[in-house]
Amino acid sequence: MRIIAVNAGSSSLKFQLLEMPSELVISSGVVERIGLDNSIFNIKYGDKEYRQTLDIKTHKIAVNMLLDKLVELNIVTSLEEIQGIGHRVVHGGEKFTDSVIINEEVIEAIESVIELAPLHNPANLTGIMAFKEALPNIPAVAVFDTAFHQTMDPVAYMYSVPYEWYTKYGVRKYGFHGTSHKYVSQRAAMMLGKKIEDTKLIICHIGNGASLCAVDGGISIDTSMGFTPLAGIPMGTRSGDIDPAIVQFISEKENKTLDEVINELNKKSGYLGLSGFSSDSRDLWEAVKRGDEKSILAVEKQAKIIADYIGAYYLTLGKCDAICFTAGIGENASETRALVADKITALGTVLDPIRNRIHGEETVISKRKSIIKLLLIPTNEEVMIARDTVRLIN
Ligand code: ADP
Repeated sequence: MRIIAVNAGSSSLKFQLLEMPSELVISSGVVERIGLDNSIFNIKYGDKEYRQTLDIKTHKIAVNMLLDKLVELNIVTSLEEIQGIGHRVVHGGEKFTDSVIINEEVIEAIESVIELAPLHNPANLTGIMAFKEALPNIPAVAVFDTAFHQTMDPVAYMYSVPYEWYTKYGVRKYGFHGTSHKYVSQRAAMMLGKKIEDTKLIICHIGNGASLCAVDGGISIDTSMGFTPLAGIPMGTRSGDIDPAIVQFISEKENKTLDEVINELNKKSGYLGLSGFSSDSRDLWEAVKRGDEKSILAVEKQAKIIADYIGAYYLTLGKCDAICFTAGIGENASETRALVADKITALGTVLDPIRNRIHGEETVISKRKSIIKLLLIPTNEEVMIARDTVRLIN
């Protein structure tokens, strides 16, 4: 059975075509700069790659082009081979605790939480509608970033603010990256040789966006992102947690609107804000090696907050079998893993500096004597989307 896993952003469309249940990736690709000039269309299949630069005005055109190319390049013999489409949807509000088959009611429900994810949900919906038009008879499934965290207890998800903010407007912690946290916790249980029900894990998803999750028996009990993905640990361009009074203070001092200040917290903060020159971890680590003080501050600050969250989640879990590193930085930046490991030794963790040089593959990076194992686990959100799609359409 062949399944397409889709991740539609505001100007991009990423996809993977997977053979299920073997989970073999037959093809993957991305259309970038949709709606702008010189859009880039790229498909990889086997050891081949097809790339074209042209103007792609809408997601609908991108989807049609993608489906045409799948046939033209003989990746599939006919579109009938595709039996399901899984869509990543960022926000499911409190309505979705699991993935669902997409129907009119689900589309309306996704629309109803646009307010909570104004940048992401409309883009995700555009992808859903474009595939629905192109392949109207193929079942489609929505897989939500927030669903995995719906198991949190009110003590974890409520903010200490007037209660009506929650009842009237849904102000609470939702958490994101759920698909990744779930995948990594399942892989961690396999690596530990334990049933997932018997594991207590801390997952550090550190990419451009970053969040930590405390997972007890396969269930999310707390996570660092909040009402929006701005909360938690410092990221590529996002501040993570700050004193909210700063927003008003800067708005007055710099004569900026609240929107402008929040935009700076989302787009000009984190690595970029402190280093003053880049949001990319590779650039920062190069600068750190040259002794650039602001870059040192940026990576140290992030590592400190990650360690603080690990400490908090250790207490929440009561015990911990493994701390897992995933996503762009977690999988590749051994320097960041080493910095974090150095700050959590009080928990009895012992990093193996040689094993920590490994990147991008599943492996244990702690020494045997480490009380809590440190694991490196590359995430795979597409495979989770494909698995849920198969489970629901069956
Ligand atoms: P997102 O999906 O949130 O956009 P990613 O998970 O792709 O982000 O992570 C992007 C980050 O991963 C960037 O900061 C990038 O520098 C970092 N990264 C990727 N590869 C490496 C590497 N080999 N060494 C250090 N950092 C890396």
